[in-house]
Amino acid sequence: MSIVGHFINGELVQDQHKVQDVYNPATGKVSKQVALASKQTTEQAIAAAQAAYPQWRDTPPLKRARIMFRFKELLEQNSDKICALIGEEHGKISHDAAGELQRGIENVEFACGAPELLKGEHSKNAGPHIDSWSEMQPLGVVAGITPFNFPAMVPMWMFPLAIVCGNTFVLKPSERVPSSTLYIAQLLKEAGLPDGVMNVVNGDKEAVDTLLLDQRVKAVSFVGSTPIAEYIYTTASANGKRCQALGGAKNHAIVMPDADIDNAVNQLLGAAFGSSGERCMALSVVLAVGDKTADALVEKLQKAMAGLTVGACDKTSNDFGPVITAEHKQKVQGFISSAEADGASIVVDGRDPVVSGYQDGFFVGATLIDHVKTTMDSYKNEIFGPVLQVLRVKTMEEGMQLINDHEYGNGTCLFTRDGEAARYFSDNIEVGMVGINVPLPVPVAYHSFGGWKRSLFGDLHAYGPDGVRFYTKRKTITQRWPSSGVREGVSFSFPS
Ligand code: NAD
Repeated sequence: MSIVGHFINGELVQDQHKVQDVYNPATGKVSKQVALASKQTTEQAIAAAQAAYPQWRDTPPLKRARIMFRFKELLEQNSDKICALIGEEHGKISHDAAGELQRGIENVEFACGAPELLKGEHSKNAGPHIDSWSEMQPLGVVAGITPFNFPAMVPMWMFPLAIVCGNTFVLKPSERVPSSTLYIAQLLKEAGLPDGVMNVVNGDKEAVDTLLLDQRVKAVSFVGSTPIAEYIYTTASANGKRCQALGGAKNHAIVMPDADIDNAVNQLLGAAFGSSGERCMALSVVLAVGDKTADALVEKLQKAMAGLTVGACDKTSNDFGPVITAEHKQKVQGFISSAEADGASIVVDGRDPVVSGYQDGFFVGATLIDHVKTTMDSYKNEIFGPVLQVLRVKTMEEGMQLINDHEYGNGTCLFTRDGEAARYFSDNIEVGMVGINVPLPVPVAYHSFGGWKRSLFGDLHAYGPDGVRFYTKRKTITQRWPSSGVREGVSFSFPS
């Protein structure tokens, strides 16, 4: 059986320290294994990044950007292969994988603007014969730790920008989906990136803890679940590193009585069930304002859901694929059962779908639950599966209060035709990414991505302008070149 290894200093490296099975979630069978990097192997990657740093730091931003232009072309040329690797290990349908890859490529396109992004600020004549400017200098070796649900896109939220800013990188992807990320790193070499600038170690906690504790690593970007995000943030910060750690979510939509219900239903289907609900921006809760709105919504959703198909990644007519593991399938089924036991109504039950030819796959069908209460476990926790829950509220304000009281604050959406309500909502909702009639308000690459509350630990959001700030440190230089013959007198007062 093949073993997926690491990519260190421009070479594929094997490490038999520990291995873990990688599943094809559609068949439920082990398809390969992944090497889990030891402390020594992880340190080897850090050392390669450290060695490559001085020369890369001094490479002009324009030359760094040119490599990213070539990398973007290679990503496009090899998109079928990348999407197939994502499908085999994650299970997402090829059109969904292509969408994820495209959003990743957009981050590469943003990184191609490095010379413009790194221009800094300049003030001539800040004082007599004095000029002052701020530079954005790289940090050194930086690390990224990424989740299973976007094997191509989430790493590309991080390394393209970090690298064009002059840093060198060690990426620790999810051990459940190792192959596409490893392949993408090899394309960087083909694009002309010098060895050691980008390194990938597959691994588990041992690799992560090595990155968190090693003094050569100056910053850590993390995306994953909230308990691990909190651990990463506190450990990295305690070890003197800059850290941004993006966590889990529970994204609510409010549907107002004046909303176009048919449109809201279409939007909700994709946002709740796309990628099996395994998106941190998945809309998993609908707050319907008024029983009339709720009844109409539930009826139309139920009808529309009868046409959804769950299945394997290669059949493009499938709407979404399996969840990631057998354990995760059980967890999702458990949340549905607990909501039922707590008195909610299971309107559409996807606990045991029949997928012909794939009886051992980790499939959960689209599920709709009505009359959910805030005290239920299925409401309080992130389910991360194809489950949409409906809560009935009397007013928009009551719905907003529920959203603001929830521990997560990643994304949200208001469906309405009322501009005043939309403005009030976006002004006062305690959530980092807000949609108005846009169900998945994932910011474009030239804005930044991040939630509030326990959906993000740290000050700066991912990619876009905040990404540039995260991957650089500011240095401000004040320089005097007096004209010949001009001498300054002695002064003991503060310079003004
Ligand atoms: P996860 O937290 O289990 O794993 C994320 C990464 O952390 C992986 O690389 C994993 O190897 C590592 N890890 C896991 N346990 C660890 C431990 N004990 N110590 C150190 N490292 C550890 O997350 P996942 O299941 O891969 O991904 C799903 C989660 O990610 C969901 O909660 C989802 O909401 C979240 N997510 C958030 C965003 C966002 O932008 N906020 C985006 C995508 C996914």
